[in-house]
Amino acid sequence: VKANVVVIGGGPAGVAAVLTYRLLNEAAKIVLIRKDEKQLIPCGIPYIFRKINIKNNLMNDEVLKRNNIELIVDKAIKVDRFNRKVILERNGELTYEYLILATGSKPMNLGVKGEDLKGIFYVKESYERLIELKETLENASTVTIVGGSLAGVEFANELANAGYKVLLIETLPCILKLNFDVKFASKIEDYLKDEGVNVLTNTSIAEFRGNRKLREIVLTSGKILETDVCLITTGMVPNTSLAKNAGLEVTDYGIKVDPFMLTSDPRIYAIGDCAEKRDFITGKPARYMLASIAAMEARVAAVNIAKGNVLKIEGIVPKYVSKVGDIVFGAAGLTENQAKENNVNYKAYTVTVKDKYPQALPGVEDLTIKLIFSRKKRLIIGGQVLGYSEYVGSLVNTIGALIENYVTADDIVLSQQAAHPLVSPSPIANPLAKISLNMLK
Ligand SMILES: Cc1cc2nc3c(=O)[nH]c(=O)nc-3n(C[C@H](O)[C@H](O)[C@H](O)COP(=O)(O)OP(=O)(O)OC[C@H]3O[C@@H](n4cnc5c(N)ncnc54)[C@H](O)[C@@H]3O)c2cc1C
Repeated sequence: VKANVVVIGGGPAGVAAVLTYRLLNEAAKIVLIRKDEKQLIPCGIPYIFRKINIKNNLMNDEVLKRNNIELIVDKAIKVDRFNRKVILERNGELTYEYLILATGSKPMNLGVKGEDLKGIFYVKESYERLIELKETLENASTVTIVGGSLAGVEFANELANAGYKVLLIETLPCILKLNFDVKFASKIEDYLKDEGVNVLTNTSIAEFRGNRKLREIVLTSGKILETDVCLITTGMVPNTSLAKNAGLEVTDYGIKVDPFMLTSDPRIYAIGDCAEKRDFITGKPARYMLASIAAMEARVAAVNIAKGNVLKIEGIVPKYVSKVGDIVFGAAGLTENQAKENNVNYKAYTVTVKDKYPQALPGVEDLTIKLIFSRKKRLIIGGQVLGYSEYVGSLVNTIGALIENYVTADDIVLSQQAAHPLVSPSPIANPLAKISLNMLK
């Protein structure tokens, strides 16, 4: 079969790529290859215990059908670049004019003894394995979560609310350290503790023990704790073997791509978790793995195939947002800690304002914002937000867009943001402007 565009991978990157390409080219033959019959929506996985039935946390293949995109459920085992062919495990081979690799990422093993015991799961598993996790939980009372990442925190909160005794283990001195500075992260940590989660920082696992089935964990301190289930949410590694075997350039950060998302082969693009990224501010390679980045890169690659490399990614400003209980928190760009690590001469300010006005309104809550500026040029390089309304998400995206556009503190003072009593802080208390004024002192 001759195909115009072939995409390997049915996650957020692959799906966003085929849909974008269809939008730009109504006549093209577009094929999406993915290895699993049931494709989970990864961001929804922490919520399959209480909020959503796992059967409903699947990609909707109807969208593909409606857009005349051929779906092949099979594993791509080889890319023959010379003949521009993808070799499939069961269904023969497929020719491409352009190929997009969207093979994603997989969880990293902890590499400790006993990791193969029954009852140990990872943050990203197949549909069938997650069903097994749910069944295992039916007869469990204690759950240990390894890794205080965003997903780890989301799992901890959901499982604690579902009635389990939850232990959250983090190697670093604070949870969420890769995304937030301590003051923000410790608010989430305190909240989890209030919800009954036992949070152990500065702690690592030395060994898992049990007779075929997990029974206890041994910490590096020597302490032994009983647990029925363990959920490992530590690192993810990009799936690069297909690219590597095809002779494409690959690094520890993923498949090497240029700003057009093109690999070292001019007919092959790589997008999403499997592709190397570069931090917008530091210019250093980074392993930012987010569905929001994957979908953006997918759109860029699809446009570049359709229009001939017209869109360039200058670098990634990672933007995060999450919610546990009533707390909504998010960040964009560098944390203060990362600014220090990268020897950036910076200034950081934090303010707390009310999220609505006048203050006599019911349901008025605190909204805390931290912004980080480069000292010399007064460029905004990072921000963190914590509050109790969805306004946090929009502030994070605003901060991210300001960073991407090299906006200075002066520019922020010059810009207006929409205000309304039920939706935003008072225009007088506008937190972005209020903080930026400090840079003009
Ligand atoms: C629990 C959890 C919660 C998350 N929450 C968020 C969130 O709230 N917001 C956010 O932005 N991000 C979130 N993420 C991150 C996000 O899920 C990933 O960044 C995103 O899934 C990356 O998309 P992708 O398409 O690049 O890769 P993946 O989602 O990993 O998809 C890869 C696809 O490639 C297929 N594949 C791989 N190899 C082959 C092969 N050889 N042949 C055929 N098919 C193959 C796989 O089957 C899969 O379909 C979360 C992740 C997890 C694990």
